[in-house]
Amino acid sequence: MAIRKELKADLAVVGSGLSGLSTIYFLDTLSGGKHNFKTVVISKSSLGFGTSTYYSAGAFRCPVGGYSKEDYISEVLESGRYINRKSLVELMADHAVNSITALEGLGLKFKVARGMLRVYSNDPLFPGKELIEALRKYVLRRGNTTILDNTHVLDVVRGSDGSLYTICLTMSGDYVVVNSKVVVLATGGAANVFARSDNPQQLTCDGHGICLRLGLPLIDMEFIQFFPLGIAESGKPSFMIPFSKGRLVNRLGEDLIVRYGFESLGKAIVYHRDALSRSMMYEVAIGNGVEGALLLYPEEVQDDLSSFALELKKKLGLGTPIKVLPTAHFSMGGVEVDDNLNTSIEGLYAVGELVGGIHGANRLGGNALTSCTVTAMKVAKNILEYLTGKFNNPLSISIDNQIISQVTREYSPRDGIYASEVFKNEVRNIMWTYVGILRNEESIRRCINKLNNIYENIDKVRIRNRSDIIKYSELKNLLLTSLAISHSALLRTESRGSHFRTDYPEESVGWRKNIRITYKEGNFKYQIVMN
Ligand SMILES: Cc1cc2nc3c(=O)[nH]c(=O)nc-3n(C[C@H](O)[C@H](O)[C@H](O)COP(=O)(O)OP(=O)(O)OC[C@H]3O[C@@H](n4cnc5c(N)ncnc54)[C@H](O)[C@@H]3O)c2cc1C
Repeated sequence: MAIRKELKADLAVVGSGLSGLSTIYFLDTLSGGKHNFKTVVISKSSLGFGTSTYYSAGAFRCPVGGYSKEDYISEVLESGRYINRKSLVELMADHAVNSITALEGLGLKFKVARGMLRVYSNDPLFPGKELIEALRKYVLRRGNTTILDNTHVLDVVRGSDGSLYTICLTMSGDYVVVNSKVVVLATGGAANVFARSDNPQQLTCDGHGICLRLGLPLIDMEFIQFFPLGIAESGKPSFMIPFSKGRLVNRLGEDLIVRYGFESLGKAIVYHRDALSRSMMYEVAIGNGVEGALLLYPEEVQDDLSSFALELKKKLGLGTPIKVLPTAHFSMGGVEVDDNLNTSIEGLYAVGELVGGIHGANRLGGNALTSCTVTAMKVAKNILEYLTGKFNNPLSISIDNQIISQVTREYSPRDGIYASEVFKNEVRNIMWTYVGILRNEESIRRCINKLNNIYENIDKVRIRNRSDIIKYSELKNLLLTSLAISHSALLRTESRGSHFRTDYPEESVGWRKNIRITYKEGNFKYQIVMN
């Protein structure tokens, strides 16, 4: 397949969720209309759709409503079991409120509760849609912007002149190369490495894969947050169903909230997601499940969480009780950044759920959307400085075709005995079975062996058309990210936050450290570091 089009731009933004689109908005606001940077936005789906942001409950944790910065910092660190990067948590505390309320400039409104801002929305099911609609409208009306939606980014590579090349496959099956001074990766989280996840299917850790291939370090990859109440009814999506009141029972009719000493179901699903998820998996493992799940008898109350759950229950036509089992929800790990949100490649930035280090070993409810606006605002400031300072010269006219063909060559049509989709499903099942909520050395090693077996066979995957290229690229990213998670999980010989080792069930003071992973020429390298 030949390169059909080359685009030159100041910046390319990969991802159209809250973090990607708000980076553009903040950049324009900060530059006060003085610069109209030429921007290309690339998104796997239609602009803003198929994002976690769209499906979110629109709740932002932040120091408001009698909840001080000190309260916020101490709760975020406690949730993260004290391995968060403290400077980033402080940055969050300082900029949470102003970065969220800055979105009011787009016509959004927020209601205040203690420690929380919630976006006003007429849609009780997906309030996050409100955020997307406002940002979409802004970006669609913005001048000097090219939107490549339904377009898949295969890789980002560095040019010899310091610029970056984003290699895309468009909806029509043509390659487009965006050559820009800045690339912002806003590709979301890694929860979809697990067979049970509530993230949109299209999120396949592409940003994580791209960064690993660029040699950028990932950090805290062993920490995945599972939401305890995930739908486990056959033929229904494994979406979260966050009823805050009701009874969660096992086969014997025992209430798990009472049995495991939680204060209430509502508190457990906000503050103790990891512990409740573990208890549920343990109950199933000892044979107390009902067809491999637990039973939820919800109370139909009208608080923020339950109204969403109630709408979803209605929409999916679920009866009572609802079979539930934890579902992978959020990845705490991601690209390592410095205290100022720079990666180790000039001009390349990560924002939103792709950024590692903020949440430590577990994330506080509502703090993901806040991390999107804070990282976007800070990165926008960095970009402004970069484009008006260090890189204010024009891009070179020629395009580095050799670098580009190194990427596209791998996707040339070929026969093969395997289909990427089958391998993708296998990876997700392997991860769920062996490196899910309850892990131990034996299960993790088994997982790594199985993943390596797939890895050794990926050159036998057939590529015939656009869809095969995308699936193959997704498979590579899922595999690399799964291996990064598994190796980190094996290395951490303790339990902390969302990472639970049945063979090392205690938290160890000696492990107040982070695991950094890099990838070079087919091999992972690990370092244990103090954040
Ligand atoms: C059901 C649900 C409810 C939630 N509720 C809340 C909540 O109320 N509060 C809270 O704090 N957090 C919540 N979260 C978490 C939060 O929504 C996410 O962490 C956050 O929205 C992530 O935003 P993002 O911009 O980083 O990524 P996303 O919004 O996920 O956007 C990712 C973008 O990257 C694009 N992309 C990915 N790969 C490629 C590629 N190869 N090429 C081109 N484009 C690509 C996708 O198309 C998409 O546009 C919730 C999550 C879920 C799933």
